[in-house]
Amino acid sequence: MCEELHDSGASDCGTAQHLSGRLHEGEAVLVITLLLTAGIAAAALYIIFIKRRLARDIADRKQSEQREQTRNHVLELLANGAPLSAILEAIVRGVEQQQPDMLCSILLLDNEGNRLVTGIAPSLPDFYNDEIDGIEIGIGAGSCGTAAFTGQRVIVEDVQTHPYWAAYKDIADRAGLGACWSEPIRSASGKVLGTFAIYHRQAHHPDDEEIRLIEQTANLAEIALGRSHADQALKENEKLLSDILENVTAYIYMKDTQGRYLFANRLLRERFAAPMEEIAGYDDNKFYDADTAANMRKDDLRVLQNGEMLQIEETNENLLTGVMDVFMTVKLPLRRDDGSIYALCGISTDISERKEVEEHMQHMAQYDALTHLPNRALFNDRLQQAIFAAQRNKARLALMFIDLDKFKPVNDTYGHGVGDLLLKAVALRIQDCLRESDTAARVGGDEFIILLPTIETGKDASKVGEKICHALNQPFELAGHTLKIGSSIGVAVYPEHGSEDKLLVKNADIAMYHAKKNGRNNVKLYEPRLQAINE
Ligand code: GH3
Ligand code: MG
Repeated sequence: MCEELHDSGASDCGTAQHLSGRLHEGEAVLVITLLLTAGIAAAALYIIFIKRRLARDIADRKQSEQREQTRNHVLELLANGAPLSAILEAIVRGVEQQQPDMLCSILLLDNEGNRLVTGIAPSLPDFYNDEIDGIEIGIGAGSCGTAAFTGQRVIVEDVQTHPYWAAYKDIADRAGLGACWSEPIRSASGKVLGTFAIYHRQAHHPDDEEIRLIEQTANLAEIALGRSHADQALKENEKLLSDILENVTAYIYMKDTQGRYLFANRLLRERFAAPMEEIAGYDDNKFYDADTAANMRKDDLRVLQNGEMLQIEETNENLLTGVMDVFMTVKLPLRRDDGSIYALCGISTDISERKEVEEHMQHMAQYDALTHLPNRALFNDRLQQAIFAAQRNKARLALMFIDLDKFKPVNDTYGHGVGDLLLKAVALRIQDCLRESDTAARVGGDEFIILLPTIETGKDASKVGEKICHALNQPFELAGHTLKIGSSIGVAVYPEHGSEDKLLVKNADIAMYHAKKNGRNNVKLYEPRLQAINE
């Protein structure tokens, strides 16, 4: 067609082409312009985006720096042993400084684990804190009461509508609080110790970052509370230990390897009549005589050098009363983790009274209560030992059986009490006739038996018998009366009159019987023919 046009009027066609070309040009300019505008807009948007991201990054970095600062500050306070209240305040204030639109609180669970008490909430109004203080935990007890009860994080975006806040929405309204998120604070063992809460003035839903913040802050509070609980437990243990050490009826002490006191409990301080400052650093030479101190050191060294645990009976003087006391003492080594010994601990119980009772019982079991001479049991024991010794040494020993003559009439005439006095006096006179190594025993009413563990001949024994017989035949002046008695004494000699104890006693008895029969007040040496007469 253009060709036709071209034929009839070539310029027209060219004009159209020109027009068409200009039109295309305009569109292109438009497109380019649009493209440029779009590019510029995109670039602007990108710059805005970058700027925002940068701003957010900076804000994030600033926030995490602030969080780090708070954390370091709190850890520093912990390391310096700051009080719990100061540490909790630092935690709460740290968060509030990072996020000025947040109000924070830390509530602590009471010892019974039933109620929350205000730990720290510096930005919440006093009336609100007072209302919350002591709140019983449970589902529906606000965000914190519910979190403490369930052990789970509680997010309440709008306190005015949430059922957990039904009972508290009025005070929340008065305090101008719109949202409350609460995270339980737990001990290492998982026990709930309290809650960390973030409040907002308006209803508010936490984003991921805010959830992280609440978690991390609760975690920091956990460290502080955990330390505080551990400190408290340690203090309670120390107090318990100190109460025991100070009140126990035992002397408890610690000494270093040089024997110097490190610790002395109340009882020992009282015994030394000195305060701790005048005991610590000193050894036993300050408190005991040189011999006692040296003996104690010897025992201490067995514990300190050999690691032995000693159980010993000690006797030492009470410096205040001058009385010798008996102690049952246990000494044990105190070791470091590597096993080396750095000190010893001693525990001494005063057993003086028990010892006295024991000794008394033993005395009663072995001695005659009236004359305090050995009784038959102890005598038999000594006789047995003496026969063994005589056997070994191929030596002789003698046994004398004594029965007082006409003792009964003393009782009958002057009374049993005077009879008793006479028996005691007889015992003393018999002992006066004997050597230290001899044994006189009371074996019946007015019967005594004597052991002479070393004699040469039967005659020597009879001589001792004569001496006793003579002594007992002398008048006794007792209770205003002059009393006259005699004694019949039978003597038997080992080994000729018996090679064992029972036979010897029997034969001495037979000899005594013959002395009695022989008119009393005389000594009879056993001879085998007496046996026949006796039968
Ligand atoms: P004999 O000359 O034959 O030995 O006679 P006796 O009077 O000495 O009496 P006998 O030896 O037969 O009896 C001893 C008496 O001693 C009998 C008892 O009344 C008395 N008697 C026993 N034990 C005690 C005591 O503990 N105290 C007192 N006072 N008398 C006692
Ligand atoms: Mg008699």
